[in-house]
Amino acid sequence: MNFTKSINQFDRARKSLPGGVNSPARAFKSVGGNPVFITRAKGAKMWDIDGNEYIDYVSSWGPMIVGHADERVIKAITEAAQRGTSYGAPTVGETDMAEQIKKMKPSMDIVRMVNSGTEACMSALRLARGYTGRNKFIKFEGCYHGHADSFLIKAGSGALTLGLPDSPGVTQGTAQDTLTARYNDLEGVAKLFEKHGDDIAAIILEPVVGNMGVVIPDKEFLDGLRGLTQKYGTLLIFDEVMTGFRLAKGGAQEHFGITPDITCLGKIIGGGLPVGAYGGPKEIMEKLAPAGPIYQAGTLSGNPLAMAAGLATLKIIDETPGFHKNLEEKSARLEKGFRDNLQQTGHKGVVNRVGSMITLFFTKLNTVKSFDDANQSDTGKFGRYFKAMLEQGIYLPPSQFEAAFIPACITDEEIDKTVEASLKAMEELKS
Ligand SMILES: *Cc1c(COP(=O)(O)O)cnc(C)c1O
Repeated sequence: MNFTKSINQFDRARKSLPGGVNSPARAFKSVGGNPVFITRAKGAKMWDIDGNEYIDYVSSWGPMIVGHADERVIKAITEAAQRGTSYGAPTVGETDMAEQIKKMKPSMDIVRMVNSGTEACMSALRLARGYTGRNKFIKFEGCYHGHADSFLIKAGSGALTLGLPDSPGVTQGTAQDTLTARYNDLEGVAKLFEKHGDDIAAIILEPVVGNMGVVIPDKEFLDGLRGLTQKYGTLLIFDEVMTGFRLAKGGAQEHFGITPDITCLGKIIGGGLPVGAYGGPKEIMEKLAPAGPIYQAGTLSGNPLAMAAGLATLKIIDETPGFHKNLEEKSARLEKGFRDNLQQTGHKGVVNRVGSMITLFFTKLNTVKSFDDANQSDTGKFGRYFKAMLEQGIYLPPSQFEAAFIPACITDEEIDKTVEASLKAMEELKS
């Protein structure tokens, strides 16, 4: 493959953008090499400016669950744009969106729309603090909840990939209210409660982690967190920015049968436009201004284009018969392929998958259940594998610590092609 144009454009971009990108995870820094510049995408495929074609497993990091440039979504955006792009006044589309969310996730009785997953999580934390009158909260090592100060302590995603889980610029005052625990370690959480119980406003977590690679919770862990939070009057916040609508119509909370107090959403809910949301029962949500005293606002919140794109996407998920069953079958096919690849080539690895979220860890461990586990992966090997896949037209997330996403529109042929490329990549790794 020829990447000349992308290489030239990256040189150009680095003169005007920090590191040449507007979000760190795009830069290919941890896998070594030059990011490719995309010009067009359709269905499960993307094309770069050199004309190379890829099967895309990044899905814009989650939003594109129905595939790129779906005609129904494009139509909704186009029609909305013709009526104007923003008014700063209420629109019916916002209520339609809230009702659609509530239909799919009954725990979200009242919903506030925002512009990103970051905003959803930071606002949910403020709400939890305001509601409980407490300062501290618990997050888990390797989980990512956006880039607000309080969350950049042992953070996952790009922060983990670049070796920056604790960002400079976060004050000690802020950091001291962030308590961290190990994922799947209920005892560790219980100890934090013994020590700080009366001052813990919330636990926030990814109910299935995508941001240290896919890490799956034990059911007892999630049940235990629900029990502890109830005992101590602490709010349980499910950050379903990645898992919402993806693991089931109702997200991870439906998949595991656990009802959180507050849910954060993003990614899919915007259908490829910038959207986030958070919600929960009336008793908590009506503490938000203007119903209550806790302040949170947004000039473009509930933007008409974003509501149109998001609502069209949610309706496809909600109204397509067997939407998640299809995703599960396609994803299981890919998982089996990766496992066969490992076995055939003798590489050591762990494949973690829930629904259409999947990570292949190159590791000597038998299971990956926490940040410490994920961190033992051979990232150099992953980088070489990533490049060998890219060269064969398979666009994986450029990091060992990210989930790959399977879009609903992908064909069995595309998955089989991916598995064949993966086998070849693994064989090359041995030489
Ligand atoms: C992506 C992500 C966020 C941040 O969302 P942005 O829209 O990038 O701000 C928060 N939490 C989780 C679980 C995510 O995957």
